[in-house]
Amino acid sequence: MDFTPVKKSPNTWIIQPNMPDYNKTYESFSWEAIRAEFEGLPDGKGLNIAHEAVDRHANGPLCDRTAIRWLGKEGNVLDLSFKELKAGSNQFANLLCRSGVRKGERVFVMAGRIPELYIAAIGALKNISVFCPLFSAFGPEPVYQRLERGDARVLITRKKLYKQKIAGLRKRLPKLEYIFLTDTKEDEDDGVCSLSRHLAEMSTDFHIPPTDPEDMALLHFTSGTTGMPKGAIHVHNALLTHYMTGKYVLDLHPGDIFWCTADPGWVTGTSYGIFAPLVHGVTNIVDEADFDAERWYRILEKQKVNVWYTAPSAIRRLMRLDIKPLKQYNLKNLRIIHSVGEPLNPDAVVWGEKTLGLPIHDNWWQTETGGIMISNYMSMEIRPGSMGRPLPGIEAAIIHRAGNETVEVMEEPDIQGELALRPGWPSMFRGYLHEEERYKKSFVDGWYITGDLASCDKDGYFWFIGRADDIIKTSGHMVGPFEVESALTEHPAVAEAGVIGKPNPLIGELVKAFVSLKPGIIPDDKLRLELIGFARKKLGSAVAPKEIEFMKDLPKNNSGKIMRRLLKARESGPPEKAVRE
Ligand code: AMP
Repeated sequence: MDFTPVKKSPNTWIIQPNMPDYNKTYESFSWEAIRAEFEGLPDGKGLNIAHEAVDRHANGPLCDRTAIRWLGKEGNVLDLSFKELKAGSNQFANLLCRSGVRKGERVFVMAGRIPELYIAAIGALKNISVFCPLFSAFGPEPVYQRLERGDARVLITRKKLYKQKIAGLRKRLPKLEYIFLTDTKEDEDDGVCSLSRHLAEMSTDFHIPPTDPEDMALLHFTSGTTGMPKGAIHVHNALLTHYMTGKYVLDLHPGDIFWCTADPGWVTGTSYGIFAPLVHGVTNIVDEADFDAERWYRILEKQKVNVWYTAPSAIRRLMRLDIKPLKQYNLKNLRIIHSVGEPLNPDAVVWGEKTLGLPIHDNWWQTETGGIMISNYMSMEIRPGSMGRPLPGIEAAIIHRAGNETVEVMEEPDIQGELALRPGWPSMFRGYLHEEERYKKSFVDGWYITGDLASCDKDGYFWFIGRADDIIKTSGHMVGPFEVESALTEHPAVAEAGVIGKPNPLIGELVKAFVSLKPGIIPDDKLRLELIGFARKKLGSAVAPKEIEFMKDLPKNNSGKIMRRLLKARESGPPEKAVRE
């Protein structure tokens, strides 16, 4: 495979990129200038994401443009124009108001990618309530942890998910007052209501109350390495980053058709699967179905997708198949492909160029940053394997810690260290809900410490090395080992568990658990399967371990902590003596 930089001369551009010269934009950039591109609420009453992303377009020349084209699993299609999205989200905001749901209270949605999710997200923001998406493949335990920690007051879900995952938790969630089901026509017992029935009673008019750009808007849970998941708080101002990255990274242009394959249960599926395309007034494709290579190529062709945002795990799956997309499908509308979430192999960039006719632009960010921070831009030479260069308005650095309170910035190129960002961009998280100490610990000496290890070359391109902690990335999703270990140790046969990410060529890392058993319990395949089933039932398929290995004793450090890194090193191959706890 040839890894030389993919060259693109300006005259091969079909449309002039929004950022033709990265260096110039970086030097002259200001967030104030981005803010000036927003309308703001009427009469100077602040900035609300829902107004900028939906109502502003619904009240103007884009009112009849398709805001969301929803592709159902069974082949059904639903188009929602900006006008219709405004009306539907107004009804939802009215429903919250009527239910007494107030500013700052949390509205959770766990429903898969269905139209109601988008209506609820926008409607919740109009009411200045907080939108919290939940991945529907989570099992009851991760769902409970998030609903409880997030003080859920309202939950929108589907009947089957409710019965499988929520019904049994109701007693443990006294704050959860309203549950609206998207697929029932009548209210049920126990405060479980039909969403469609109640929405139908609501007015399609709603006036967004004054919104401070610093009002809480979104709560995204992300996994920690030592504790249960943390709720990263984002505010209405985050939209500035969604808009700016939509412009300079995704390179959205008026009239574009955009498709982000991520689920809104994860931050990419919200920042880029909902807000960035809407605020740009482009059509956002939402596919309800899971990955299916033929279906995906058909969507790119039939929906005439111009800008496509996907993930390395999906790209690697496409690379394995004997499909010749350029011969079998008409992909002439596709202008740019982006990827995020895990390292994008250099050969994937080259594969994109050869197989799809376009290189793949990698970018980097995380739940806490709220939007893309480092990227390969349309107008820049791509270096396969690199995450790219910092966004205009973002200062990124490689640092070494000198004690707990000071950091040394590595000015020399190609030195490995921790990736840090200078705080202050609009979509930076404003806290971990109820966990001030955990939040404070993320900042050292004026830098936000990302938890990733990376290096920076002499031209300012950043290269990902790995996580500095034990967090697992499986199929692009973060899994906290502690959450999995806690679930496993609830099984009566388990004494202790240590959970790691085992390198896997397709999904990045696979969740693997090392388990020691209580005295007298015999390890065998039957028990292994039982434990896998037990964990799956509790945690759901997205989080549960795929492999379990029995060990007599788990390796521990002097203070008795399980040494996950030693387990990981054994699994990955490097000599054990190089690993310190
Ligand atoms: P999340 O908060 O779930 O979005 O995960 C964020 C983490 O995913 C980052 O801290 C990285 O460890 C990883 N990540 C995201 N984008 C990339 C990328 N382009 N290359 C390598 N790792 C990435």
